[in-house]
Amino acid sequence: MSETTTQSAAGAFEAEQKRYLEGFASGIAAVRMTGGLAAGGAGAAAPPAEPTGPDAIHIKAQDKTVKAGGKLCDQEKWKRAENPFDGHNRLIQEAAAGKQPKPEDNFRWRYHGLFWVAPNQVSYMCRLRIPNGILHHWQFAGVADLADEHGGGYVHVTTRANLQVREIGPEHAQPFLDGLTDIGLTARGAGADNIRNVTGSSTAGIDAQELLDTRPLAKSWHNWILNDRSLYGLPRKFNVAFDGSGVMPTLEETNDIGFQAVEVLDGASVPPGIYMRLVLGGISGHRDLARDTGIVLKPEDCNAVADAIIRVFIENGDRTNRNKSRMKYVLDAWGFDKYLAAVEDKLGRKLDRVAPEHVAPRKATDRYAHVGVHAQKQPGLNWVGVVLPVGKMTSDQVRALAKIAAECGDGQIRLTVWQNFIFSGVPDAKVAEVEARVDALGLTTKAAGIRSGLVACTGAKGCKFAASDTKGHALIIADHVEKAVPNLDVPVNVHLTGCHHSCAQHYIGDIGLIGAKVVVSEEGDTVEGYDVVVGGGFAENPKIGTEIWQAVKAEDAPSRVEALLRAYLALRQGPEESFQ
Ligand code: SF4
Repeated sequence: MSETTTQSAAGAFEAEQKRYLEGFASGIAAVRMTGGLAAGGAGAAAPPAEPTGPDAIHIKAQDKTVKAGGKLCDQEKWKRAENPFDGHNRLIQEAAAGKQPKPEDNFRWRYHGLFWVAPNQVSYMCRLRIPNGILHHWQFAGVADLADEHGGGYVHVTTRANLQVREIGPEHAQPFLDGLTDIGLTARGAGADNIRNVTGSSTAGIDAQELLDTRPLAKSWHNWILNDRSLYGLPRKFNVAFDGSGVMPTLEETNDIGFQAVEVLDGASVPPGIYMRLVLGGISGHRDLARDTGIVLKPEDCNAVADAIIRVFIENGDRTNRNKSRMKYVLDAWGFDKYLAAVEDKLGRKLDRVAPEHVAPRKATDRYAHVGVHAQKQPGLNWVGVVLPVGKMTSDQVRALAKIAAECGDGQIRLTVWQNFIFSGVPDAKVAEVEARVDALGLTTKAAGIRSGLVACTGAKGCKFAASDTKGHALIIADHVEKAVPNLDVPVNVHLTGCHHSCAQHYIGDIGLIGAKVVVSEEGDTVEGYDVVVGGGFAENPKIGTEIWQAVKAEDAPSRVEALLRAYLALRQGPEESFQ
């Protein structure tokens, strides 16, 4: 189906939807919609036509669910009733009139990157797409201008090396998206049941340790998914990451699909060289990290294989229960062998597998690589990581930082999954100037202890799911710990996430806090608080943390974190023994 539908076709389409939904509601569900708008309602003489067009794969999967006795969840019904791309012009008109979206339209807007976040903020948040997290200085400054003109005048860096702008009023929704287009950016597919921002190694192309430059792979996959309508509207959201095996972790093990650059040695079933190893099923909020499939790919094959993996998921993912609809649950039900056999069927060929002993061990990562000054593989050049207070910058700071990138670096801003960014291509002679100019903005390139690894999701200030003000509490914890434990001499990651969606990936932090309402009276009054996990890890030490405390009041969180850090310092054998 084309994205623009004629008036008469739209009428037939709506009539078809109505019949389908009526049939569905009464349990009959005999009416089939088709991608090509073919007729075929209940009682029609001719058998229903097969769905065609890019939406057919989804329609068939929904039909299969209903035929098996399943009840589609609301989001599936919304997708079915009106594809969010077909509804775009209606959404624009309603937003321009200042209308606040109904839940189903809030869901549809997310296909365009806009999230209505009332009641916490009576406005939209826009999440962009920035493949590999890299953008030009003028794009960075342009986002700041848009945040001033249409949003709250500030910008957040997310844990998918992406940018978000908040407090966008309804009438500013489309002008904001238009402004992104003007500066060569997009938010298409950034929310809802779509493939999210493509992450890659932040130090791609400048890192002496890397095996492979992830930038062309991330950009190619970004364009692949952006331009294929059948890859929108999955059973649930989906994450893909490319890690070049550089010094800075990409956290690919927390993605549904992770591609890890590895060196295959002599004696394997494939010629020696650099390949992408395929890991699958990461979803840290559901306590699972991606697992090695044993498959290695030529880098140029990643798109086709990821595409096949996702199509198997589209056809077989759960469309009835949002809590069980991620790809992990198909993998759990089927096992890796069955799932990968289905992928190979789709591809029409076998994938190469290599035994672990034929893969060189990956080099260790550096937990401070995203902060401070680091020599690039290009002699005389450096990257410089700037610490942002839980990812937040004012638009004035963003513009000034963009100017630094243009005047002292290679003009690029590289966002990281650690909610910060690095300048790249800074000559030795310019490093001191960069540091001084960053300091003058009230930011820093120097951080130790927990400040460098402090990650917090949006939290209660802007997200209706949050049980606690994660960003606010994160800064209070950091301030407290810096005074109370000044001798902390190693990086310790503290992640605060507001709810089970785990946007800040609390389960892989050294210390993870997940928002919880804490009951403080017999009448059931509650205050903000957290459950606490410890011992999570990533990169060469991947691990899901273990819960040690429940229902800690937020006001007590700083002293609990302090106690954990004091215990670590007292009990460790030396600084080489990590918190984990
Ligand atoms: Fe919102 Fe929950 Fe995500 Fe935090 S983890 S931003 S509270 S959805």
